[in-house]
Amino acid sequence: VSITPTAVPEAPADYAPAVPDMDAGPAPSHLFYQSRQRRPLLDRAQGVHIWDTTGKRYLDGSSGAMVSNIGHSDPVVLAAMRAQMDKSTFGYRLHFENAPAEELARLVAKLSPPGLDRVFFVSGGSEAVESCLKLARQYAVATGEAGRFKVISRYPSYHGATLGALALTGYTTMTAPFAPMMHEMPKIPAPTCYLDRDTLSMDERGRRYADMLEAEILRQGPETVLAFIMEPIGGASTGALVAPDSYYPRIREICDAYGVLLIHDEVMTGAGRTGRFLAGEHWDLVPDLIALSKGFAAGYAPLGAMVAPGQMVEAVMEHGGFIHGYTYAGNPLACAAGLAVLSETVRRDLPGHAAKVGAVLKDRLAGLMDRFPIIGDVRGKGLLLAMELVADRNTLAPLPPERMAAARLVDLAYDRGLIIYWRRTRGGYVGDHVMVCPPLILGEDQIDEILDPLEDALTVLSRELGMA
Ligand code: PMP
Repeated sequence: VSITPTAVPEAPADYAPAVPDMDAGPAPSHLFYQSRQRRPLLDRAQGVHIWDTTGKRYLDGSSGAMVSNIGHSDPVVLAAMRAQMDKSTFGYRLHFENAPAEELARLVAKLSPPGLDRVFFVSGGSEAVESCLKLARQYAVATGEAGRFKVISRYPSYHGATLGALALTGYTTMTAPFAPMMHEMPKIPAPTCYLDRDTLSMDERGRRYADMLEAEILRQGPETVLAFIMEPIGGASTGALVAPDSYYPRIREICDAYGVLLIHDEVMTGAGRTGRFLAGEHWDLVPDLIALSKGFAAGYAPLGAMVAPGQMVEAVMEHGGFIHGYTYAGNPLACAAGLAVLSETVRRDLPGHAAKVGAVLKDRLAGLMDRFPIIGDVRGKGLLLAMELVADRNTLAPLPPERMAAARLVDLAYDRGLIIYWRRTRGGYVGDHVMVCPPLILGEDQIDEILDPLEDALTVLSRELGMA
């Protein structure tokens, strides 16, 4: 029997992607979103701008979900991806190593704190966090500390949607339905020092919040605690929350004292977003494990990474190897995208640029407080910035949750061609904030494209809420 191999067809010259009929009712994919509200159809994007198919232009003031750090359609990144596509787009990680993954791992190791020199690739933030959990656990087992399995995290926080990462997430709206399916992990309060109305200095408050970690470790039994995970600067869950300087070294000290691994979730803060490659660099922090994603491949491909110390990896390797991995891990096309993004981030010093333009943008946002009493706080670093909306600036009392003020502001801005991002969790209760996090390539001359529609949206919102 002879089998004729299938001929590889030529790509048709008139190939064009399918255009869905937007009037035909919701597409099957649409049913999975929380809201049934239809969104415009994405057409193209360039730099800090996105166009929909009606020709309307948006300024991407949140980089998607704090993803598009290097901006859209960067020619260098696209060229690197095209070149890789012409060679190969997949080689299974147990069969082949590939050059983009090798090179990217080298670059990440070079940019990471001393000792963190091994890089494990994944396809997103949740997978990066899961990988940190599993390596930490396997390291404990390998080093004769199999009693350690609890991972302490903070409330509020967000660490991912998969059940392991979700168990660390302090965001009840997302976790509640899944509670019986998760191994509930202990939480301590995030350092929302700006809300406290005691007589302590900010540094004293910072230490007080860090000491809560020690209390929790003791309460759980130190011999059962595997790790503590935090975002060095809070992401959407706390609205760009920066702790007082005293917080960070105390956390490291406590982790060291009890043999607890410190995991930095830099999924949102990493890859230059806060003005340094890693947010931990602002305080010279050296965690034991780092999770990266989002800006790491900046939306050009699904990519994330765990960065780990060689000594930890070697211990696990000698104990049977790392029992974990994903089919798409180290995908050559995704890594080629990540390598180009990261190389350009370094070559163009995008973190340095984010620090500069972020400082100007933050000042301009803070300047809005003169006209808009609804803004209670403006915070963040680099281009990870947030505005908190409040009923009363003096007490920072939150707005009535049913008014959905942050969501309304985001919609008003969207109508005016500005994309920002909202979330509603604060401390142990609900508050409103919006993230203003444009791509790191934002020019100073483009700040007005954020401020003008934002002022307009704030004017309407203030009027609606009787706070004009
Ligand atoms: N950690 C943090 C801090 C995040 O912000 C996110 C995403 N918002 C994740 C983890 C999960 O990443 P992903 O959605 O890519 O799985």
